[in-house]
Amino acid sequence: MDLTTLERLPMWIGGRPHAAATTRYGEVTNPATGEVVRHVPLADGADVDAAVAAARAAFAGWSATPALRRARVLMRFRDLLERHAGELAKIVTQEHGKTLADARGSIMRGMEVVEFATGIPHLLKGEHNDSVGTDVDSWSLRAPLGVCVGITPFNFPAMVPMWMFPVAIACGNTFVLKPSERDPTLALRLGEVLKEAGLPDGVFNVVHGDKEAVDLLLAHPDVRAVSFVGSTPVAKYIYETAARHGKRVQALGGAKNHAVVMPDADLDYAADAIIGAGYGSAGERCMAISAVVAVGDAGDALVAKLAGRARRVATGPGDAAGIEMGPVITASARDRIDGLIGRGETEGAALVVDGRRPAIAGCAGGFFVGPTLFDRVEATATIYREEIFGPVLAVLRVPSLADAIAMINANPYANGAAIFTRSGHAARRFEREVEVGMTGINVPIPVPMAFYSFGGWRNSLFGDLNVHGTDGVRFYTRLKTVTSRWPDDGSAAPGFHMPVLG
Ligand code: NAD
Repeated sequence: MDLTTLERLPMWIGGRPHAAATTRYGEVTNPATGEVVRHVPLADGADVDAAVAAARAAFAGWSATPALRRARVLMRFRDLLERHAGELAKIVTQEHGKTLADARGSIMRGMEVVEFATGIPHLLKGEHNDSVGTDVDSWSLRAPLGVCVGITPFNFPAMVPMWMFPVAIACGNTFVLKPSERDPTLALRLGEVLKEAGLPDGVFNVVHGDKEAVDLLLAHPDVRAVSFVGSTPVAKYIYETAARHGKRVQALGGAKNHAVVMPDADLDYAADAIIGAGYGSAGERCMAISAVVAVGDAGDALVAKLAGRARRVATGPGDAAGIEMGPVITASARDRIDGLIGRGETEGAALVVDGRRPAIAGCAGGFFVGPTLFDRVEATATIYREEIFGPVLAVLRVPSLADAIAMINANPYANGAAIFTRSGHAARRFEREVEVGMTGINVPIPVPMAFYSFGGWRNSLFGDLNVHGTDGVRFYTRLKTVTSRWPDDGSAAPGFHMPVLG
């Protein structure tokens, strides 16, 4: 099925396209042109029930399938992802707006989680003790949970779902994905590719929707666990609501990621890194750099280098050759970002590069904000306190590394932070004292590889376990510990006191 030619998208339930029961639909727009490209169903109770029922029905067979066979499905899925990467990237670019190269990169980062999950027979190994008592052995195993749900944001329609479901299904769970209603098509295509890889029907399902669908999933009695990635207010709501309904939950929220630039840093290297990390994907990455903290006398030279580079970023439609930065997701996102830029000016920061309403040839209806750079931003300013989620860099100036660390540690968000320096001592101090989940040393976007786990601290993650890596395996499994006794003659006297093994 060529999903991109459909006017109205289906759900993906039980291994096939499923006509939605709901009569509510939302518009999916191409952000580079502003055109409505298709409509997405916004699920009601019947749609949600159908998806969860399909996942529940598939659980018994899938969880009993040997882990090695589950891994082999993922191996085939991995190869198909690589083969289809170009076509998948086009879907991401059409609905999200990021460049084709960036979209392809996000598919590859998701694929790396699939590669990690193919090691599931090893990852599920438990512990074993022979003879914990006479004729008594004990061991633990990691059992799957049942139906797991993923609720994902617009900014990574391929990668963020792939942080979740490859690990969940490798562990023997079945999955219902509720992707962002802004760019929903890729999720359906993932369903098709999983089927082609040999995944049994019902193990992976897609239900489209908005808050109504999410609320139904959070309260559904057959849902065991919820993984969420999105903005902080919604993450907190998901965490509290899912927990109240007895679900296991991990909810990743928003971010304000800092890059500290020390006076001894290679400023050209730092400026290049910060430009890519701040403006790549129009700043719509949860690990994008949005606050640059210039230490000591690094500020003047750094701002000059950033300004020169920001003015040269090629902005335009993500599918055009040579483009480095595409549009933001919606007209309202553009208007919100433009408004925050205005607010930054009125609150006294120096607007060095103003990206509002750039002229993009052939894209008059597109939702563009050009690279924007502020200098001398105060920590009290709205543009520092709020997550902008757009191509806006704010430079703050502080006297010392201690001040930079204190500023980062006082911020309510704590996803990532990076330092640029030539000093091993400064880097080591930063890495030890900064209170964030992911830290980079001369690396602007320190996203952990798939075999580590991804997650922030404070308002950037609600829950105890990060996504993917070994934390992902722990999240999607529960521990069962078996104590087994095989006495020689089968006669066991009743015991009335706490047994003492010996
Ligand atoms: P969002 O919170 O608006 O939406 C995320 C998901 O929640 C979507 O599927 C949406 O349909 C659903 N949703 C939205 N409002 C809801 C509500 N009131 N009740 C229930 N469900 C609701 O986020 P977004 O705008 O799609 O994505 C951008 C945000 O995601 C940014 O804040 C960004 O920092 C964050 N993000 C964080 C990470 C991370 O790893 N921490 C990764 C990617 C994105």
